[in-house]
Amino acid sequence: MVGTAAHTRQPEHSGAEGPRPSRTLDRGRLVRDLRTVVRGEVRFDEASRHLYANDASIYRTVPVGVVIPRDDTDVVTALEVCRRHRAPVLARGAGTGPSGQSVNAAVIFDFSKYMNRILDLDTQARTATVQPGVICDQLRDAAMEHDLTFAPDPATHDHNTLGGMIGNNSCGTHSVYGGKTVDNVLELDIVLYDGTRMTVGVDEEEDLDRIIGAGGRRGEIYSALRDLRDEFGDLVRERFPGSRVGCPATTSTTCFPRRGSARPAPWWAASAPAPWCSRRR
Ligand SMILES: Cc1cc2nc3c(=O)[nH]c(=O)nc-3n(C[C@H](O)[C@H](O)[C@H](O)COP(=O)(O)OP(=O)(O)OC[C@H]3O[C@@H](n4cnc5c(N)ncnc54)[C@H](O)[C@@H]3O)c2cc1C
Repeated sequence: MVGTAAHTRQPEHSGAEGPRPSRTLDRGRLVRDLRTVVRGEVRFDEASRHLYANDASIYRTVPVGVVIPRDDTDVVTALEVCRRHRAPVLARGAGTGPSGQSVNAAVIFDFSKYMNRILDLDTQARTATVQPGVICDQLRDAAMEHDLTFAPDPATHDHNTLGGMIGNNSCGTHSVYGGKTVDNVLELDIVLYDGTRMTVGVDEEEDLDRIIGAGGRRGEIYSALRDLRDEFGDLVRERFPGSRVGCPATTSTTCFPRRGSARPAPWWAASAPAPWCSRRR
């Protein structure tokens, strides 16, 4: 099962050198190494790469290749191989991103095909634990059986994924009463490019000193985010006043939460317990 327990480990590689441009990658060795560890699919053929060259935007970029992980172990091991080759990576859900954010000259990790299960529905707590490839309507339909719902519903709700909604901080008409995606996510199990894996959540302010004091990569990230918030939070809120709908501007304000709710931005979500906003209206 995709973990919800917090566990961290130090990166084996600092990743400080950053990914290599895709033209200097040894794609032959990369695909061979990926195939030895990935139990899902590794698709580097021309047809597959062109299938993933578009999203809902005007941009077109043929990726290095595509990994379709079966589970979180596949994600972590494939990422480790990409890091060893210094290959850029990009997470992808349904590819409905309208601004080119779902295409790049990178190894695409497609979460929609296999990692699309609702792991738990707790009707008492009104939370769900989902894999990132779960489709918005899949969660809403399951919730509806209990007269509950998940409020954010982009126009693409019948095929966009929870991972993509978290990446975009998606909204939609019902987010007006139930909040945007960021308002409906309690916890994320994430893995960073450098291999650090951790669980992040809301309401971590009172734990901040302890987390930063514990050091390591996690402490470093939380410390940098707190500095960012403290330095620029008020300015961002002043320049981009919040609104109940619309993503691009308001996302920046939620990335700079007020003191009292530190919320680190994830690279990707392996699982996300999503609170259902309220009884269906
Ligand atoms: C016609 C149309 C109407 C739309 N209407 C709305 C609307 O009403 N409201 C709204 O908010 N948006 C809207 N959108 C934008 C978009 O559909 C949504 O934001 C949607 O939630 C994106 O989901 P996806 O699964 O397609 O994500 P993708 O496009 O695949 O990915 C979106 C971003 O999330 C990242 N991502 C994907 N999966 C993960 C993961 N597991 N971990 C980390 N990052 C990840 C990707 O790298 C990318 O940056 C619309 C788009 C179109 C084309």
